Amino acid sequence: MSNQTFSPLKFVENLSFIRYGGTADEQRAAELILSEIEAAGGKGEIKEFQIPASTYNGHVTKVIAPYELELNTVAFGMCGNLPAPGKDLKLFYAERGTARDFLGHDDLSDTVVMVNALTLDAYKELCKRHAAAIFVIMGKYYHNNDEAGLYNRNLRPKQLENGVIPTFGINAHDATELLRNGAEVLHIELEQTDGEATSRNVEAVIEGTEKDDEDIVIIGHYDSLPIGPGAWDNATGSAAVMGLYHYFLNNPAKRTLRFVWAGSEEQGLLGSKAYIEQHEDLMKNIKFCFNFDMCGTILGPNNIFITGGKELEDFAELFCRETGYSAQFRVGVHSSDSAPFADRGVPGIGLSRGTTSSEIHTCRDTIFPLGEEALKKNICFASQMISRVANSAILPVECGMPDNMKKELDKYFQRDTDKK
Ligand SMILES: [Zn+2]
Repeated sequence: MSNQTFSPLKFVENLSFIRYGGTADEQRAAELILSEIEAAGGKGEIKEFQIPASTYNGHVTKVIAPYELELNTVAFGMCGNLPAPGKDLKLFYAERGTARDFLGHDDLSDTVVMVNALTLDAYKELCKRHAAAIFVIMGKYYHNNDEAGLYNRNLRPKQLENGVIPTFGINAHDATELLRNGAEVLHIELEQTDGEATSRNVEAVIEGTEKDDEDIVIIGHYDSLPIGPGAWDNATGSAAVMGLYHYFLNNPAKRTLRFVWAGSEEQGLLGSKAYIEQHEDLMKNIKFCFNFDMCGTILGPNNIFITGGKELEDFAELFCRETGYSAQFRVGVHSSDSAPFADRGVPGIGLSRGTTSSEIHTCRDTIFPLGEEALKKNICFASQMISRVANSAILPVECGMPDNMKKELDKYFQRDTDKK
């Protein structure tokens, strides 16, 4: 790294606090990023956008027959309400929530339905049958609620297109006991108001020295889930983007580089989607997207996510040969902030590093697995690859997605393209 004063690990440490999209803590994280941009001698901007958010005022879920037990569940956001005096509902376990699981259960308006996972298809089946409420089973039987990933996540807009059903998460341990003990009737209340909150992206731009109509986006999300400090996912990617910002401030490229720290990725890539919406006039100029979602673990391996055609894969492969960089390649839609750009035809490369021995999306996503040297190596490789692209006479690949990738994007964004 050309700038010796920036310590990516220190930056990760400073950012490792719960910073859920749309909260004051996310704002604090955004301001921390902005102050680091300024400390580097640059200029940045916080750009706000609105996201779905509910104001929660409490809920009750308890077994009332044939025995009595208060349940330790978590309400989803954006799932409507079921105000006092609430409802007494039959319990029905619909396993995968497929049409077959509902044989003989066409009207569920007096029933709370428990499912293994709330897929979009399962949610559609539940809406069709007017389910009164939903329990979604989460985690392993030995997890507590935090470990099982129970937090007040929102129902997704795609789900809500089909209807609104009060929904709760229950951990696998408690779900098992409900069924083992033959729970039949549950009492349910939910008091909440669905609305909006303000989330934010942070952007800093380094103008190109020559090409003024070919921009490169360098992006990483800085938000976390509400249950863990998100050190690896994705304070590390935020640090990588910052390390690259330092590097390119000292080594400006021919093409304009747009550094984006995205908010609310964990709630459905909301920051990158908002960025595109707010910069529609710019989209014709954006020719490449480098995304950083999780890097810097001491244990490897390195990963390279390729969202584009064969040429893009060949370019990355050739570059790894030249530099002797070892990485496993994954070709397809990267479930991260490059996806909305790829959906607009922008070739995407995700540079990450990870180990199956660490966890994300839990309280265990701490700084322990991370290292300064590992972070610096990832940033150094990224700076070389981005320099190559940003300074090339002609870009290594053109915009546009091959048909197979377009299909994968349709699937990823849950578009019903084969609907008759
Ligand atoms: Zn992430």
